[in-house]
Amino acid sequence: AKNEGRNRYSFFERQMDEALRLRKIVEDDLRNAIANDGLTLHYQPQMSADGETIVGVEALVRWPHPRQGLITPNRFISVAEERGLIIPLGEWVLRRACEDAKRWPNLRVAVNVSAIQFRHRDFVRSVMRIVTESGIDPTRLELELTEGVVVDDADAAEEAMMELRALGIRLALDDFGTGYSSLIYLRRFAIDKIKIDRSFLESMETTGESAILVHSIVHLGRALGLTVTAEGVETREQHQFLQALGCHELQGYLFSKPVPAEEIDRMLAMASDE
Ligand code: C2E
Ligand code: CA
Ligand code: CA
Ligand code: CA
Repeated sequence: AKNEGRNRYSFFERQMDEALRLRKIVEDDLRNAIANDGLTLHYQPQMSADGETIVGVEALVRWPHPRQGLITPNRFISVAEERGLIIPLGEWVLRRACEDAKRWPNLRVAVNVSAIQFRHRDFVRSVMRIVTESGIDPTRLELELTEGVVVDDADAAEEAMMELRALGIRLALDDFGTGYSSLIYLRRFAIDKIKIDRSFLESMETTGESAILVHSIVHLGRALGLTVTAEGVETREQHQFLQALGCHELQGYLFSKPVPAEEIDRMLAMASDE
């Protein structure tokens, strides 16, 4: 038993070492990756309610690390935020997404914005500059925000949102339903779209309550004149349920995982052949 305890301890110790090691790698290498095009974007299709047509794509950042393989954002976005790297990272993502958007003249391109990035006083100017430089129609750009953007200074957030919308840029509220004040936000802020958080769909089959919540969110969004998107759609049952409710757009593994830009090119070419 004593031996077992020691083994267990060293197991946790190894886990800790591994976590610290990874974090160190992240801190050391991320700055370099941002500065040298060492990141890449994958795109996940956003489908019309019938699941037939790609209406937009969401850009999701990936970090192909020489030794760690493809690192997903949950492992480095928070580090970027802590280490002051989220501004250059966010600008790189926006610039690349606007460049890639030129490949798909009929699609909307959605870009995730960290709350810290959004609250930076130069954010709107930086978006304006990048969009202008790329030459894309600003109405094709959608920024996915979370409730965190309003923390500290709701007036400043409101002003920034109005400026962005005045440019024609669309605003989506991501992870809708997970925060505390979602309903107040909808009334106060100039949002075009809500994205129902994946967690509601995950538990939808097992508990009737989640299905009721999804139902309510879709109807609320529609009643307020917002576009309603569901994320994390994985099964045909979920698709049918959401379509029947009147959810406008769907995103999830049922349709496609996030893929490299070339794969989106192929999907669009195939769709136009039909
Ligand atoms: P998110 O914005 O909520 O993005 C949705 C996440 O769910 C993505 O994970 C996507 O790959 C995953 N997903 C999509 N469909 C399904 C599905 O059907 N089932 C399941 N289980 N998962 C699905 P990913 O790419 O790992 O991104 C995680 C989070 O990292 C994002 O959550 C977003 O908050 C953040 N993120 C990603 N790219 C960026 C970026 O460029 N900038 C910032 N600031 N954050 C980003
Ligand atoms: Ca998102
Ligand atoms: Ca989300
Ligand atoms: Ca999320």
